[in-house]
Amino acid sequence: MQNVIRTNLVFKDYNPNQKLLLPPSLEELIDPNHPVRVVNQVVDNLNLQPILAKYEGGGCPAYHPRMMLKVLVYGYLTNLYSSRKIEQALQESIPFMWLSGMSYPDHNTLNRFRSDRLKGVLKEVFSQLVLLLIDHGHITLTEAYLDGTKIEANANRYTFVWGRRIKTYKDKIKDQLKELWAYAESVAKEELGNQPFEFEQINAENVTQAVEQIDKALKGKEVDIQVKKKLSDVHRKWPEQLDRYEKQEELLGNRSSYSRIDPDSTFMRMKEDHMRNGQLKPGYNWQVSTQDQYILGYTLHQTTNDMSTLIGHMESLKNTLGQLPETLVTDAGYGSEKNYEYLEENNVNGYVQYSHYFNDKKKKWKEDPHLVMNLHYNEEKDCFYCPMGQPMTLVDQRYLEDKEGYKLFKKWYKAQRCDGCPMRGPCHDCKGDRVVQAAPKWSKYKSKVKERLDSELGQYYIRKRRIDVEPVFGMIKNNRKYRRFLLRGLEKVEIEAGLLSMAHNLGKMAS
Ligand code: SF4
Repeated sequence: MQNVIRTNLVFKDYNPNQKLLLPPSLEELIDPNHPVRVVNQVVDNLNLQPILAKYEGGGCPAYHPRMMLKVLVYGYLTNLYSSRKIEQALQESIPFMWLSGMSYPDHNTLNRFRSDRLKGVLKEVFSQLVLLLIDHGHITLTEAYLDGTKIEANANRYTFVWGRRIKTYKDKIKDQLKELWAYAESVAKEELGNQPFEFEQINAENVTQAVEQIDKALKGKEVDIQVKKKLSDVHRKWPEQLDRYEKQEELLGNRSSYSRIDPDSTFMRMKEDHMRNGQLKPGYNWQVSTQDQYILGYTLHQTTNDMSTLIGHMESLKNTLGQLPETLVTDAGYGSEKNYEYLEENNVNGYVQYSHYFNDKKKKWKEDPHLVMNLHYNEEKDCFYCPMGQPMTLVDQRYLEDKEGYKLFKKWYKAQRCDGCPMRGPCHDCKGDRVVQAAPKWSKYKSKVKERLDSELGQYYIRKRRIDVEPVFGMIKNNRKYRRFLLRGLEKVEIEAGLLSMAHNLGKMAS
């Protein structure tokens, strides 16, 4: 069928090469309520002295740090995290062009500014933003909601180094060395000398020394061909292997693992497990405290355990904001004697749940006479009474040190004559008489916190926590699609967390 073009068609003028007599300014093209204006206005009001102090002066003039910071923050606000993408946006996007004043720093310049100039100083700049939010009445320091999320590091999941594996390898070397030593003793006991080798200290220096001693003792003796071969292998491999293990152990510190590509990252179980195989991935534990969904502070940790991050996070808040929030609300991942003690000493009202808080309220738990929490304790006699009414007497008490060196005071109480007791089945399944453990300080803090959490205000905080801090991670991970750090190393990852936090707060101000 033949195409018929109607004669009455009318279109608006279209000429992409149209010349304008008075070209419009970029600013005119941006909506008055556009978020880029908030970024521009707020960053203009921040004191960038900490960043300026990182410039040495001289040479070719650098791009203005205020412009560079605005561009990066606006990039993070618009889901542009790669320096190449931001470089492209600076040439194509009107808000970016306006923000940069038509400057076009390339991706290397943007990256150098982000990695080097912001290193160690961005948190100070971020805290000014928080103080500004407080000044403008958006938030107060009355309460803070703390939670953490694991974010993947920029490293492959198959680049792991495990502390356990290093220990196994070193144990193997120890066993083989013991065998060689025993052989040398059987062939040349006198030449080997009377000084026994210290097998506990397996390091390159000690092992080399021991092998040299064995070599010396076996010199001129008739030695088994297999032992000769083993000794030649040992000379070639062990010193280099043990040197490597030593360096790896130094990098591990208190951690159980790290990635060879980003040695600051630790292998963790992530919430986002697309393969559903529970595989551990290298990542960082990002802790954030919020109020009304504004971020008050952020810290990065190399541990999977939230409990050990609370004090470090609070200290960071104190250092950057000059004071601690009056009230802290968290979920059950943070309840520990050490944390409760810290909050009490620093006059912070802790609404910090402990692990069994919700179970303690269940009828089934409350009415189970066998649970330790339901055993009657006589303070005067310092003994518990078991469900049969028999006293459980104190059998041991001592301090136990946790991984971070905190000393927990614990007591152990033992029942008498459990054999033949009709309640033995539901009461316990230990061999012999039942032993229960108690931590007096912990119990004291726990009952105080329980009372606080059970109050009307406590229940309000528990409900609010779910809609305060948790949605912040939702926004960053789902709306901003930020699920993996781009930079490597704790200091650089902290910069990214800072830019994300600034972008989040400014985005919220603009909304
Ligand atoms: S089993 Fe032992 S601890 Fe339990 S009720 Fe009987 S006597 Fe008491």
